[in-house]
Order: sequence, then structure tokens, then C-alpha cells
Amino acid sequence: MSAEQYPFFGHVIDNVEVESLDGARFDTVNPWTRRKWAEVAQGSAADADRAVAAARRAFDEGPWPRLGRHERAALIHRLADLMERDAEILAGLDTTDMGKPHAQALHDVARSVLNFRFFADHQRDSTAEVMPMDTGHHTYVEYGPAGVVVAISPWNFPLMMATWKIAPAIAWGNTVVIKPAEDTPTSVVHLGRLAVEAGFPPGVLNVLNGYGVPAGSALTQDPRVDRVTFTGESGTGKVVMEAAASHLAPVSLELGGKGANIVFDDADLDNAVHWAVEAIFRNAGQVCLAGSRLFVQDGLYDEFLDRFRAAAEALRYGDPTDSATQFSCLASEEHFRKVKGYVDTVEEEGGKILTGGLVEDGAWAVKPTIVVDLPLEASQYCQEIFGPVVVVNKFHTEDEVVELANDTRYGLNAMVFTENLSRAHRVSSRLRAGTVWVNCFFIRDLRTPFGGVGDSGVGREGGTFSREFFTEPKAVVMQIDRG
Ligand code: NAD
Repeated sequence: MSAEQYPFFGHVIDNVEVESLDGARFDTVNPWTRRKWAEVAQGSAADADRAVAAARRAFDEGPWPRLGRHERAALIHRLADLMERDAEILAGLDTTDMGKPHAQALHDVARSVLNFRFFADHQRDSTAEVMPMDTGHHTYVEYGPAGVVVAISPWNFPLMMATWKIAPAIAWGNTVVIKPAEDTPTSVVHLGRLAVEAGFPPGVLNVLNGYGVPAGSALTQDPRVDRVTFTGESGTGKVVMEAAASHLAPVSLELGGKGANIVFDDADLDNAVHWAVEAIFRNAGQVCLAGSRLFVQDGLYDEFLDRFRAAAEALRYGDPTDSATQFSCLASEEHFRKVKGYVDTVEEEGGKILTGGLVEDGAWAVKPTIVVDLPLEASQYCQEIFGPVVVVNKFHTEDEVVELANDTRYGLNAMVFTENLSRAHRVSSRLRAGTVWVNCFFIRDLRTPFGGVGDSGVGREGGTFSREFFTEPKAVVMQIDRG
């Protein structure tokens, strides 16, 4: 088949969709059909150089950082309008690139739209501090844009994670180069096209496609870059931080997780089962926040497990384009092989698969898998599998479960299910995590801090926390009283 027969997705640099300078392309594969479906420009260091140059020019000489906050907000809302118009296209691209069930992809588009609308309004309506002083002066704080932002995003929420970074960055007057993950670049390229249509000035939002090395690494090493915001694996985060340190660019890192989901005897059983299923099987478990370690108190253990197992087995598997599908294939062959490796070795590592295992139709798919009786040193318990595999443990006391939950190098999130108010507060406070959900999961208010501790990340984004990162706060000290 000749190259012309596949849709093509270029880089978007300076408002023009372009090929790589050397003409290189890579394939993107639909993991459900296991076939190539599109070609994408494969960025080199030279392409990264021109993307950063465009963003630098747009920041230093272009109108964007100097626009009034209302005008900037209006343009961002215009982009959000176009995303709503193209919601089916954007969701379809994520579904084709990664096998995300269509209904979930549409939900991600709505969340992505909200990211833009929220941060447009947040910067437009923001206030800044004034500090009266005892010396006849006052100080006020000015939040100026930081400059050129490099954003690097993962493949599990291709559009949503990219917009979570782009939206606050541009809202606060920065210019951006986004590098989407190589497995799932197309929705972000479409977003770049929509920014051109919305009337963004050239160079404000640039999309560079390509692999982590050389495209991503060239971006993070570039001394013209003022901020690096990255979401991906903890190991990659360390490399990104080192690269940014070479030119002292602040980093925001949203990394891996191994979320603890704790169900006490007094939990509302229906609610706890519902969220336990969502927490590990939605998006086929390819979620940094996944509740992959489930702890159930001994008095409820048997009943909970029966219900949880039945709910897992009832999830509808199938073609991700079918709107009734609840779980489908994993995002790529490479990722499928990784998850399969963990499933294949459960018994070897001393555990038992209660339900689940591989889908036996040749698809790159794993059924909702519940593992029990696994030693705490087992790889499935300690490492981020990033698939629909949950390890269940029984516990007896509150102290015991807090210790178990905190015994991980990660610290992104945890969930607590209990009807005891004091216990809910007490346990939430003792958990080492960036977010704790009580009797729920995944509910977000974009004003709240989002991020993790330990190997789950550095820094927080969301609301004023994003403002801190994407601006250079300046103190202006003014004399009032000359006497
Ligand atoms: P990954 O680290 O392999 O890749 C993420 C991005 O980094 C990709 O765009 C990749 O091309 C790029 N990259 C790779 N090497 C690079 C380098 N040397 N320099 C610059 N960029 C480089 O991660 P992934 O497999 O795409 O995503 C899955 C991971 O992301 C999981 O660990 C998951 O927990 C994490 N994640 C975290 C959050 C969060 O908010 N904490 C959200 C989603 C995903």
C-alpha cells in the first residue's frame, strides 16, 4: 500500500502543518485491528529546534503574552467551541489510536474542553495579592507569563492529558510546544489544527510529533525553554528533570502510581464495589490513578469479593467503536506484552487469579483480572502494571491498612470507603498521597491541587497551583508615605 492511502498527521509549527525537515514519518497502529491506520511526521532534533524557535518568537515578539486577559480568554473559549463541534472526530482519533472505548473517549473530550474553559476563566477572573506594610509601603504581586513551555504527554488520555497542560500554560500568556506520545498523536494534531482555525497567533500552540528520543529529549534540553511539564513514567520523569536542570527550567512531573483502595467493614457495599470497578477497569486500567491495590477489611472480605468479581465479569468487552463497549484492547502491542507478562507470572509469584486472564481471540486484550493470595514482595503488587489487574488483600485493623497503603514508592492517590466520619478524616490524613477520595473516585474540581509524592511526581497543577508554575510571580514594592 502506498503512503498516500493513509491519513497524514504533520507537526503544527507556526500555524502551518508541516512534514519533518528530513521527510521522516512513522506509523500509528490501531490496536483493535492491529493494523497501521495513519502516518505521522517523525520529529528530529532539528524539528524540535524549529518548534521551540517558533514558540520563542511568538512569546518574545508576538501578541499573545501582551493580549488583554479578556481577549486571551475569548480565543481560548473559541478553541473550546471548535472542540465541541469536533467532539466526535477527536474522540474517534483517541479510540482509533489507543482502543479507548468510544463513550470514554467522548467523556475525555468533554473534560478537555473543560480544561480550556476553566483556565481561560480562571486567569481572566483572577486576583492578585496586595500586602500592606508597616513601613509606609505596600507590595503587590504580578503574575506574568513564564515564557516558552514544553509539554510532554502520555498515551493513556491522549487529548485530556495534553490539554491539562496546554490550557493553563496558554491561559497565563505562555507559548507552548506539545509533544504527544508516539502511540497516540493524532487527536493533539487535530487540536493544533483547531487552534489555527480559532485564530490563535502563529507560534502560540505548536505540536511536535516523534519519539521520546530524539524529539522529546531535544525539547527538554533546549535552553530557550522556560518550563517543562511532563506526564509519564517515573523513570522518564527523572530523565526529563535532569535535562531541564541543565538550563534550570522548573519542572512539573505527573508520574506513575499504585493507588491503594481501602474498603472498611462499614462501607456502603454497592458504592464501594461500583468505584472499585471504575478505579481499576475503566480505560482497561491504563490510568495513573488506578486503584490497583485493593485492601478489604476481614469482616466484609468474602461478600465484597463475590460482588466485585461478579461486577468485573459483567463488563462488556468488544470493539472500542461500539458505544456499548466497556472494556477493550490495550493501547499497543508493546504494552499488551508488558501486562501479559505480569498476568502470566501470577502463579509463579505465589498468587491466584480469581477471575480474568488473557482474552483468547488474538486481541491485545486482558480481561478484568482479580488477583488474590499474592505475597507483598510480588512484582504485581509492587510495580505499576498499568492494566486491568488488581491485587486484593485482606486487612484487620486501621493501623495495619494505613501502613500497607503507605508502603510503596508511589504516592499519587488513595481511596477510602467507610461510613464512619471520624475514621474517614483520620485515615485520609495519614495516607501519603496527593489525592485521597472518600467514598468516591476520579471526581475532580480543577481548582484543587493535583500531583503526587515520592515517585509519583514533583509539584502540583490545578487552579492557583498551575498559576504558580506557569507564571513568574513578581513583587512590586511601592512607597506610599514619603514622610
Ligand atoms: P512514558 O514515560 O513512556 O512517555 C511519556 C512521554 O514522554 C511520551 O510522549 C514519550 O515520547 C516521552 N518521552 C520518552 N522518553 C523521553 C525523554 N527521554 N525525554 C523527553 N520525553 C520523553 O509514559 P507512557 O508510557 O506514555 O505513559 C504511562 C505512564 O504515565 C504511567 O506510568 C502512568 O502512571 C503515567 N501517568 C501519570 C499521570 C499523572 O497525572 N500522574 C497521568 C497519566 C499517566
